[in-house]
Amino acid sequence: MELISGYSALSVKMADQTLMASILALLFGFVVLYRLVFKKNGETKSESESSAVTTTTVISRSKNGADVDADVIIVGAGVAGSALAHTLGKDGRRVHVIERDLKEPDRIVGELLQPGGYLKLIELGLEDCVEEIDAQKVFGYALFKDGKATRLSYPLEKFHSDVSGRSFHNGRFIQRMREKAASLPIVQLEQGTVTSLLEESGTIRGVQYKNKSGEELKAYAPLTVVCDGCFSNLRRSLCTPKVRVTKLFIFLLV
Ligand SMILES: Cc1cc2nc3c(=O)[nH]c(=O)nc-3n(C[C@H](O)[C@H](O)[C@H](O)COP(=O)(O)OP(=O)(O)OC[C@H]3O[C@@H](n4cnc5c(N)ncnc54)[C@H](O)[C@@H]3O)c2cc1C
Repeated sequence: MELISGYSALSVKMADQTLMASILALLFGFVVLYRLVFKKNGETKSESESSAVTTTTVISRSKNGADVDADVIIVGAGVAGSALAHTLGKDGRRVHVIERDLKEPDRIVGELLQPGGYLKLIELGLEDCVEEIDAQKVFGYALFKDGKATRLSYPLEKFHSDVSGRSFHNGRFIQRMREKAASLPIVQLEQGTVTSLLEESGTIRGVQYKNKSGEELKAYAPLTVVCDGCFSNLRRSLCTPKVRVTKLFIFLLV
């Protein structure tokens, strides 16, 4: 009896040890896997945080080089594309933004943000994009004529004191918006020029683009949003806009 019970105790002990070993092996495997995944994400994040706006690597590619890891492709990271990328990324969507030039834009456009635009930034959680870019608060307009002047103030009485218009260098503002979008690990911001939309049976499946190294690539997603601005080449492939130019802006650079 004693022998039998001793044997039982031994087998229970051995079974315990086997179980413990399995649990330890499982835990070890889990830690290794976790570290691998965590390291990969960490590298991508620090890469995007290290300089103004950097290109992140494509997460995975199919055999023919097509990126299939996005819910949404956004063409263009101007004010529209960057704000959309950030908003969708915050919502948990995997976004692949392809922007022709990730350097700070230097154009005379979009220098005045109206108070309504600032309220929209607050709504989108992007209000800090007007910080650290030397933005000036704007409270209305001044009119000058025949030696007389008058002021037209924005009706801001009902709003928090921070709500006003903002005037800034558009390029700096755009860089801040891009940085903000790229700070989300789920948003992949890549420098590249989209050359065409990939269409199958009347449905846009993705885009063809040339990346920074000049490689021709294809990216696929269930939704493609074209935010490539007023000089869009891609719009022409989707519709025939009958645009009539009714006014012109003329600037004098001093
Ligand atoms: C002279 C002028 C003054 C203006 N002043 C104001 C103002 O004071 N306040 C205001 O609110 N608005 C102003 N606007 C309007 C404002 O500039 C636009 O509404 C705004 O820039 C539109 O943003 P967007 O993101 O749609 O396009 P854009 O800002 O043009 O961004 C498009 C982006 O797409 C990229 N892109 C284009 N083609 C491709 C491609 N094939 N592949 C990849 N990327 C591509 C471009 O590089 C760019 O970064 C002004 C416009 C002009 C022309």
